[in-house]
Amino acid sequence: MKIKLILPALAEAESPFWRPVKYSLFPPLGLATLAAYLDPEDEIDLQDQHVEQLNLNDEPDLVIIQVYITNAYRSYQIADHYRSQGAYVILGGLHVTSLPHEAALHADSIFLGPGEETFPQFLNDFKNKRPGKVYRSSIRTLNKIPPIRRDLIKRNHYLVPNSIVVTRGCPHHCDFCYKDAFFEGGKSFYTQAVDDALAEIERLPGRHLYFLDDHLLGNAKFANTLFEGMKGMGRVFQGAATIDSILRGDLIEKAAESGLRSLFVGFETFSAKNLRQSNKKQNLKKDYEKAVARLHSLGIMINGSFVFGLDDDDRDVFKRTVDWGVENAITTSTYHILTPYPGTNLYKNMDAQQRIISRDWDLYDTRHVVYKTTKLTPEELKEGYDWAYKEFYKWTNILKASAQHDSIRHKLKHLFYSGGWKKFEPVWNFIIKTRNLNNMLPVLEAILTKVKSEKTGKLKELSVIDSISKAS
Ligand code: SF4
Repeated sequence: MKIKLILPALAEAESPFWRPVKYSLFPPLGLATLAAYLDPEDEIDLQDQHVEQLNLNDEPDLVIIQVYITNAYRSYQIADHYRSQGAYVILGGLHVTSLPHEAALHADSIFLGPGEETFPQFLNDFKNKRPGKVYRSSIRTLNKIPPIRRDLIKRNHYLVPNSIVVTRGCPHHCDFCYKDAFFEGGKSFYTQAVDDALAEIERLPGRHLYFLDDHLLGNAKFANTLFEGMKGMGRVFQGAATIDSILRGDLIEKAAESGLRSLFVGFETFSAKNLRQSNKKQNLKKDYEKAVARLHSLGIMINGSFVFGLDDDDRDVFKRTVDWGVENAITTSTYHILTPYPGTNLYKNMDAQQRIISRDWDLYDTRHVVYKTTKLTPEELKEGYDWAYKEFYKWTNILKASAQHDSIRHKLKHLFYSGGWKKFEPVWNFIIKTRNLNNMLPVLEAILTKVKSEKTGKLKELSVIDSISKAS
């Protein structure tokens, strides 16, 4: 059977602000995970439109499309095209799970929630010529899932081909996050068996890994055993975790020992009112500076995530947030305009309050204002967001932020990572065009080598005192 798996390009990939390197980071792991359930005899073509021209002149029997909100319209066009050619088309992903009725108009079958249980079920039904219209996931386990089909990934198209996911979901319930909508009807946080995760790591070449898990430290027991098993592997890795998990116990030290060198952290907002509005309880009453200092003491760089436009945000929020990031030596900042994704509690609340002003899904890219704001006008919010990005990544601020570190090596790492990421677009574009992105991996690995902080001892002591006082 001829099978085509497609990740259509997000709408922002056509915006004038499109940065090709941003969309050439990670391969489509979700599709490669589904491909593992296909028959070895099947003829499989996995295409990621962010990094290659989509070939629509073929004649697959089965087409599988992964739908996000900002590629939804494009996905539907592709689906309609293949259906008109007689192919069987299935749609799945975050947007399909949020708006199944919309997606169903363009598909023969739709998939709601994760596909590890439902996709093999579908394949069986399809072979028996009785596929269902809707497949809804309810059993959630990663036990005995077949190894991901990495052979289908065109490694040289990506800067970070060694991306990996060892858990699904997250233990928290932030109102603006897709997580609860996607995992509705079953467990919303679960992990692989540690041995399977370690085996997957062993299969990956080179040193660098990028864990794409929502919250790598979300299950302390799992993470502890994973980091224990990774000791001595000589890996350097990046991942994401929450403030509370950084401050709690000594898991973050264990992560650093086994190679964690940079962490995505959702600071989101400094306002307690905003945190409560977003149900982001894990950040409430947490000392952000202490979390930052702890990461820096371990030589871990920080990618901070910040949301603008929550109801308590005023005109000063942009400057406050940028200044804080620079003063606290945040390596890279990701800013977002609050976006009420369909299916989330945020969307339900805003819809009930009649605050949604656009349902053009192409604008739901966290760069546009699609709802009625409170203390800011939509123009102020958009201008403030654009200003924040420009301001944070000005050379003067990159230099100022990197100068906050106490060791020369950490200062240099910060400078190379932040400057390299934002300031050399033509170089990145050339590397992408010449299909050499994968060859940049040794440079990334070099930047991610370990640095020791002169303040390490003191901060470690502080964190131990902190855990003791919390326990007592
Ligand atoms: S912590 Fe992150 S992944 Fe988890 S629910 Fe909140 S926003 Fe979503």
